[in-house]
Amino acid sequence: MKRPKIQQPLSLFDPLDRVAGVGGKRLEAFAQARFFTILDLLRLAPRRYEDRTRVLMLSALRVDKQAQGVFRATLRSVTMNHFGAHRAVIYAEFADDTGIARARWFNQPYLGRNLVQGKTYFLYGSGFELKGAPALDNPDIEPADDEADDEEKADSQEASIEPAIKHCEWLTPVYPSMKPLAAARISPRVLRTLIGRILDAVDPALSFPSFKNQTSPEGPFEKLWRAFVERHRPPSPAHAARATETLSFFDQVLFQLGVIKRREHLTGRPDSPDEPVFIPQPMEPGRPLPFPLTNDQKLGLSGILEDLRRDAPMNRLLQGDVGSGKTLVAFLSMIRFSEEVQPGSVCAMMAPTEPLARQHHATFLRFFPELASQAALLTGGTTAADRRKISACLAHSGLRYLFGTHALFQDAVTIPGLGFCIIDEQQRFGVEHRRSLLAKGANGRIPHLLLISATPIPRSLSLTMFGDLDITVIREKPAGRHPVETRLHEAPEEVLPEIHRTIERGNQIYYLCPIIETSGKKIDWTSLEDAHRFLKKALPDVRVGILSGRRRPDEKAAVFDAFAQREIDVLIATTVIEVGIDHPNATLMIIENADRFGLSQLHQLRGRVGRGADASTCLLISRVGEASPRLRALAASDDGFAIAMEDLRLRGPGDLVGTRQSGLSHPAFSSIDRPELIESARRRARELFHDPRPGIRDWFLDRMRESFGPEYLTFLDGG
Ligand code: ADP
Ligand code: MG
Repeated sequence: MKRPKIQQPLSLFDPLDRVAGVGGKRLEAFAQARFFTILDLLRLAPRRYEDRTRVLMLSALRVDKQAQGVFRATLRSVTMNHFGAHRAVIYAEFADDTGIARARWFNQPYLGRNLVQGKTYFLYGSGFELKGAPALDNPDIEPADDEADDEEKADSQEASIEPAIKHCEWLTPVYPSMKPLAAARISPRVLRTLIGRILDAVDPALSFPSFKNQTSPEGPFEKLWRAFVERHRPPSPAHAARATETLSFFDQVLFQLGVIKRREHLTGRPDSPDEPVFIPQPMEPGRPLPFPLTNDQKLGLSGILEDLRRDAPMNRLLQGDVGSGKTLVAFLSMIRFSEEVQPGSVCAMMAPTEPLARQHHATFLRFFPELASQAALLTGGTTAADRRKISACLAHSGLRYLFGTHALFQDAVTIPGLGFCIIDEQQRFGVEHRRSLLAKGANGRIPHLLLISATPIPRSLSLTMFGDLDITVIREKPAGRHPVETRLHEAPEEVLPEIHRTIERGNQIYYLCPIIETSGKKIDWTSLEDAHRFLKKALPDVRVGILSGRRRPDEKAAVFDAFAQREIDVLIATTVIEVGIDHPNATLMIIENADRFGLSQLHQLRGRVGRGADASTCLLISRVGEASPRLRALAASDDGFAIAMEDLRLRGPGDLVGTRQSGLSHPAFSSIDRPELIESARRRARELFHDPRPGIRDWFLDRMRESFGPEYLTFLDGG
């Protein structure tokens, strides 16, 4: 029999093929699953742990899925019944000094071929009832006297019975099964063997810059190394929990280091935004407005202006609850920038949909008619001739304020003099969009950037996702707003009376139907046409319009204008259209199949009404109605921040920040709902970044880059 190779000491950064038993197909499979180094594999978190620390007697076996245990017993007989080409069931009978029990396995023919009568095995599993007696259901099994060559077995294609049950001083980790690994016959059990081998072979002194060289009794590296060991070999559940805690902190520190690097890359300053250099003083708009600014709007404006006056480009996120008046703050900062800070330079404001871009342009003209000749709209619908005219005006005749959609950053569009970019509803844009717009800066200089977020984001998430941005929060809403009364319904018929009442008062209505995406295709859940037919039939006198995503841009614009001119009472639309729309005469929002949406999104949708002095209502139609605690929570709260936190808890960060943000795959996101951990990781990252010992700082920066993987560069660029 072949003797196992003597395993050389490993460092955490060695490639996986240095581990005995990993090569060829397995190495490829690991690479596919994005495990390249020893460290990558040690980061893997077990799904759960099994307690195999004590060996039980067969007489203790019970019919109980929860009661699992290790048994040491001798095989008395085995039978294998085939049915179909690839299916088989194996029955075996085992005995120890206290009794006899049967075991059953499905579809493991290799096991049937390898079991040897009279041999003693370790079995691990839980009991079920078979012919009136407790039996073992699909137990893990390995020979009890197996001193043989693990490696040979692990490497053989048949990978017979993988050793897994012995070495029981610690809890046994159960790893998640992963497709690419399974395809190369790396079962969770083989993984256990390999990781065990790694833990035996890694020499921490090769892996850390100053192991056992710390001043404190247990230095950070010792603690980290112990956490890696105890993640995979915890003596108790408490040890496992402590290891998880340490490793979550480690991941978060790495992410926060990345955030510092990103800020340095984007703005030239690594310093952290949450230590304000100055306290902004509320600033007056500088122009006559039909209403006074709220205090938060004044503060926000002055913070932005302070940034715009610096040499380094601004990198700021403007957050605020829906309807808090973020647009006006953006407008005023554009005007002050172009008139005072950098006279004559161009500002571009980009919105994710054509109606919203048109609305911004129109609102700007309404507030500031004297600037009409300096403002233009550029969208997908803009003709080539008009584009040329806009470009010419930008270059020569005082065009300063450009509003538009994605069309703004297309290659053919040049924006001479661009100094300030604003991206509204930023979560709807991908990183590459942001980058293409910034790339149009005048003379290759990076323009100032203001991102506006539709969703108020909890601080913990902001720090993680947007930790490199300065953040302006507008909490206050303009005076005189009523919270939107929200009620739950179970059928569309129930909302008809409210539609009547609203129209009688001379107000208008949005009727929203969700679009769901199935395997890349968009399908209307309640189709717009169905909703249209229903309303036409139930309310023949009502003027109904449909704003379908499938229409041509000019058709959509026509419907939208008709609604804005109050020629339409009910606007049926999908959520793709509605974002950011501001039409205060609409006071009733009806949302079909509301349970399909995240809470924050519903809060956004609801925010389309309640934008003027009139009381407004939101009716959520859902077959589950009152039974949904989520929808009840929404009906009860009007605080976008609280709602976002609830969403985060229920659905994770994807909904809040947009799944296109690449940093999302970073392991740090598993602790997104833990603000204290994030705050302290942030402090630690800052210390490390400024650590005078280059060995330590560089060690962490290297780990940081690895932790992002190939997405690091995208992340650095603002992704
Ligand atoms: P959001 O923050 O959701 O983007 P908007 O900027 O669209 O909100 O503003 C919502 C509405 O409130 C608009 O009709 C806007 O004109 C109005 N508004 C903005 N600021 C004030 C204010 N200080 N007082 C009264 N109304 C305001
Ligand atoms: Mg808005």
